[in-house]
Amino acid sequence: MTKHITHWINGKPWTGPAPAAQGRIYNPASGQVAGTVDFATSAEVDAAVKSAAAAFPAWRETSLVRRAAVMFAFRELVREHTAELAGLICAEHGKVTSDAAGEVARGLEVVEFACGMPHLLKGGFSENVSTGVDAYSIRQPLGVVAGITPFNFPAMVPMWMFPIAITAGNTFVLKPSEKDPSASVRLAELLAAAGLPDGVFNVVHGAREAVDALLTHQEIRAVSFVGSTPVARHIYQAGTAQGKRVQALGGAKNHMLVLPDADLDLAADAAVSACFGSAGERCMAISVLVAVDPAGDELVAKVKERIARLKVGSGDQPDSDMGPLVTSEHRDKVASYLDSGVAEGAVLAADGRTHQVHGPEGGFWLGPSVLDHVTPQMSCYQDEIFGPVLSVVRAASYEQALAVINASRYGNGTAIFTNDGGAARRFTHEVEVGMVGVNVPIPVPMAFYSFGGWKSSLFGDTHVHGTEGVHFYTRGKAVTSRWLDPSHGGINLGFPVNS
Ligand code: NAD
Repeated sequence: MTKHITHWINGKPWTGPAPAAQGRIYNPASGQVAGTVDFATSAEVDAAVKSAAAAFPAWRETSLVRRAAVMFAFRELVREHTAELAGLICAEHGKVTSDAAGEVARGLEVVEFACGMPHLLKGGFSENVSTGVDAYSIRQPLGVVAGITPFNFPAMVPMWMFPIAITAGNTFVLKPSEKDPSASVRLAELLAAAGLPDGVFNVVHGAREAVDALLTHQEIRAVSFVGSTPVARHIYQAGTAQGKRVQALGGAKNHMLVLPDADLDLAADAAVSACFGSAGERCMAISVLVAVDPAGDELVAKVKERIARLKVGSGDQPDSDMGPLVTSEHRDKVASYLDSGVAEGAVLAADGRTHQVHGPEGGFWLGPSVLDHVTPQMSCYQDEIFGPVLSVVRAASYEQALAVINASRYGNGTAIFTNDGGAARRFTHEVEVGMVGVNVPIPVPMAFYSFGGWKSSLFGDTHVHGTEGVHFYTRGKAVTSRWLDPSHGGINLGFPVNS
């Protein structure tokens, strides 16, 4: 029995005409086709947007407290169904179940943040700015907004967006990754069970055609995108050309700088966890270790020792540390960097192709690898590999290490490992990256701070969730009001000034 995933439009599964195209959903651990997903054309996208547009006026008028109450109910339902959601993610993405549950937990933090929307939408009020005149500010929803999300966090990344957007009074159309679409549909069902009116949250599946239909639809006011840099750039350019508000988060190459005074066991543990968790398919994964002399040799030895012990196997096995990659094409592309790295002069210190695998033969397996003595000119350094490959760059000094990081075209996350508070302070000040960890390898901000990178890791000027997320999904209005004792000073064609 294979599953069939279709769109979620106006509070129910889509029952319109048969799909023009479908995609395959794989179980990456077995390599088997697990089901199909319908691909939307502009007709289904239009139906979803129309349903969201029709739901907007009533949802916008629903009191703020009632909107927040739906989010509170949704929070309870997601908590209750965490294991089920983690199972869906594990089955289609391949990541281990505990990691999938962690992604749901991080998404829940944003739901909890959105429950505080009555506080977050408070404006300012200034009494008597002129005699008998008050001034105040309010923020109002935009209308229909869209989210386009990547395969690597099929629950968390949508939850970065829709809880804030809909609690602020918008209606939403989500286009999740076609590779692992089930979690988004389950979230839609849980929203409906929480009392969200039909049409406020819709899901359309598909690939480029569906995305282009969203980008050109005149009813869509804003687009949040998370995915690879070339697509993020395209979304930003095409969306803003259509007059839409766009935030487009792109790819990454995250460096971890290790100073010689650091606790090298702590640094090695952190590097292995942050590089190989979720098989490296995380936008905040550490993919480059920058070891400042003389830390390099000892650090690489400690990393090798640790990865030899990692158990690669099916994500649903409780003792697996690392699952498969998402598709066979992606696995092959990631593995190709091991050959190109060596051809360009790197040293293959650990070869994931020979790592023992505890899982079915047809799975999209690749064990953890380390490329040492990588230089910034090599393609394994330049490209986002997005897999279980750690590149080690050797640097002679802090200054040289910082220069490497700042020259990268990506600026998503970074970390420094040191016991020197002054060095850490200097690094956080000088590094040109959006999210920085000090002895913390994956510094994903909490929901009440905003998440976003610099340079080619983000197009647009607003990060997701936190107060920047609230700002992105609302627009400001300033009101100047005179009620009491209106002064009838007669006609005055001069520009109003305070008195
Ligand atoms: P992707 O760019 O291939 O796909 C992202 C979304 O865009 C999907 O919904 C996909 O269907 C759609 N899409 C793909 N190609 C398209 C095209 N040509 N035109 C229009 N839409 C298109 O990314 P992915 O492989 O699903 O996810 C991995 C990437 O996402 C990595 O680069 C990773 O760094 C990045 N990512 C970034 C962040 C962040 O916060 N910066 C978070 C998670 C993932």
